[in-house]
Amino acid sequence: MSPVYRYFRNIGKGFWTILIGMRITMKHLFTPAVTIQYPDARMSIPERGRNRLYVNMDDCIGCNQCGMACPVDCISIETAKSLPTEDLGVTSTGQKKRLWVTKFDIDFAKCCYCGLCVPPCPTECIYMTDVYEFSEYDRSNLNYSFITLSPEEVTSKVEQAKAAEREAAAKKAAAAAAAAAQRAAQAQAPAAPAGQDQAPTSPVQQKPAEPPRPAPTGTPETKPSAPQTTPAPAPENPTPDKPDTQDKTNPKDSSD
Ligand code: SF4
Ligand code: SF4
Repeated sequence: MSPVYRYFRNIGKGFWTILIGMRITMKHLFTPAVTIQYPDARMSIPERGRNRLYVNMDDCIGCNQCGMACPVDCISIETAKSLPTEDLGVTSTGQKKRLWVTKFDIDFAKCCYCGLCVPPCPTECIYMTDVYEFSEYDRSNLNYSFITLSPEEVTSKVEQAKAAEREAAAKKAAAAAAAAAQRAAQAQAPAAPAGQDQAPTSPVQQKPAEPPRPAPTGTPETKPSAPQTTPAPAPENPTPDKPDTQDKTNPKDSSD
């Protein structure tokens, strides 16, 4: 192959390659665009997309089911028992609220958006939203708090719950002490009649003294001994003696 022929053949291949590339470019030049002008325009989010969580505290009962289901422990919940006189209302699903939720934090810096915290919720108050733009320069700003109580209310609820717990513990201890004292008194009561024979002083002590009385009347032990003794000698002595005596008398009679 001569060098002149190779030169012109390479020029022809270059033009052909340009034409192929321009054909693809011309093809997309007249098709509709698929890009959007974000953030002025946004794509729609899938219905079951997993984005930022939200908690409706009006329906939260503080059961911590969501926190236990979280695989990365990014949900922190603290509660305080309400007083019996307090009415916290009911959730939209009809469940009575008994706990003050004093802390409900979700650290979205740890959250992996797995959605495992959503199904266990008995009141369906924690769910995914369509919010996916919440980037922060400071990571601590990704720790979201959902409680509706003010810091003062949280402090007062926690303190009143602790006071109620202390009061209940004191009542329980007093009841336990009273029960122990009652048991001790009951334990001492039966010991007195056993150690003291001064039974006549108290009616309780006379009762244990009664059992010996029926013992003699309950003749089952004496009765069997009596019939054993009476019939045993009776059949042996009279029968052999009588015939002996009769035999002895008979000879007398016979001698007579
Ligand atoms: S989506 Fe997953 S990682 Fe995030 S809070 Fe719920 S359970 Fe935890
Ligand atoms: S599972 Fe639901 S009701 Fe229970 S603590 Fe979590 S958000 Fe509240």
